Amino acid sequence: MDDVIIIGGSFAGLAGALQLGRARRKVTVLDTGLPRNRFAGHSHGLLGHDHKPPLDILAEARRQLTRYPTIRLVSARADGVSGAIDDFSVLTGDGESLTARRLILSYGVVDQMPDVPGFAESWGTSVVPCPYCDGFEVAGQHWGLVWSGPRSHSQAKLFGDWTDRLTVFADGHDLSPDIRADLARRNVPVVDGRITGIVGCGGHKATVKLDTVPDADVDILFAQPSIKPSASLHETLSLATVGTPFGIALKVDERRETSMPGIYAAGDLANPGMPSVTTASWQGAMAGIFAQQSMLV
Ligand SMILES: Cc1cc2nc3c(=O)[nH]c(=O)nc-3n(C[C@H](O)[C@H](O)[C@H](O)COP(=O)(O)OP(=O)(O)OC[C@H]3O[C@@H](n4cnc5c(N)ncnc54)[C@H](O)[C@@H]3O)c2cc1C
Repeated sequence: MDDVIIIGGSFAGLAGALQLGRARRKVTVLDTGLPRNRFAGHSHGLLGHDHKPPLDILAEARRQLTRYPTIRLVSARADGVSGAIDDFSVLTGDGESLTARRLILSYGVVDQMPDVPGFAESWGTSVVPCPYCDGFEVAGQHWGLVWSGPRSHSQAKLFGDWTDRLTVFADGHDLSPDIRADLARRNVPVVDGRITGIVGCGGHKATVKLDTVPDADVDILFAQPSIKPSASLHETLSLATVGTPFGIALKVDERRETSMPGIYAAGDLANPGMPSVTTASWQGAMAGIFAQQSMLV
């Protein structure tokens, strides 16, 4: 039996494994190798790893974990979970049945691509979610923002720290007169009509195709699709969730424990705030430490 099984071995999961391995706890990490930012050429904002390809950061992390004899990294999907504290069972897609005293869920989320031709193909290059991740490299250039609801107004204000050349694409949303007035005051034009397609034009540049007006060219396009957890194991376990403007997240307490004793959660799956590699790593490390401390006699 393992002390801990970690489901999802990316930034959050590997950070948890590192703490557990250093505490000489026996841990198995199951991972399917699809981190959320795999579409991005570079990852930004993680101290010591800024502007590195995200898969390189993870490969280096996995290499470093080989120092720890009690950590086992397994390329496999967790398909089923059952049991209770001190006696959890996890069934993998390879048919292996594992048991552990604690679980850490860190299987992340999936961005739900809208049904717009070219959107998915441009994701991570011409279409990106977050100015902290990708804004610096295109500061001062012409940005586009796909409106997705009230939160887009906050984004339009936020983007002012990076550029004074922003165009909002309403994409069928009805922006209130107050919001339109505020955007006008900020010299942010609003383009009405629905987006019918996105064409990546090399680098971050994109052409936005619209149903009512001529195409528009931008140097980068920001959009925030809704998200859903990458797996449904938390549903099997009936874990409590919280709603966010983007989708659901697992509910955790200050020790990163979910609504079920002995199950911890970390990373985007349990981060209703601002997801990032830094927060995922920090939360994963804390989940590992709290899981370990919960087993002290
Ligand atoms: C386009 C884009 C660019 C981004 N750029 C940045 C950036 O520059 N800087 C930054 O800080 N953040 C960036 N982010 C955010 C960052 O990707 C996430 O915050 C981070 O990846 C979250 O880490 P995580 O470990 O929680 O989840 P993930 O990295 O998504 O990892 C989840 C892991 O779980 C695995 N998994 C899923 N289901 C199962 C299962 N059933 N069994 C086993 N394994 C499973 C997946 O394969 C995956 O490896 C970006 C996001 C996107 C979409």
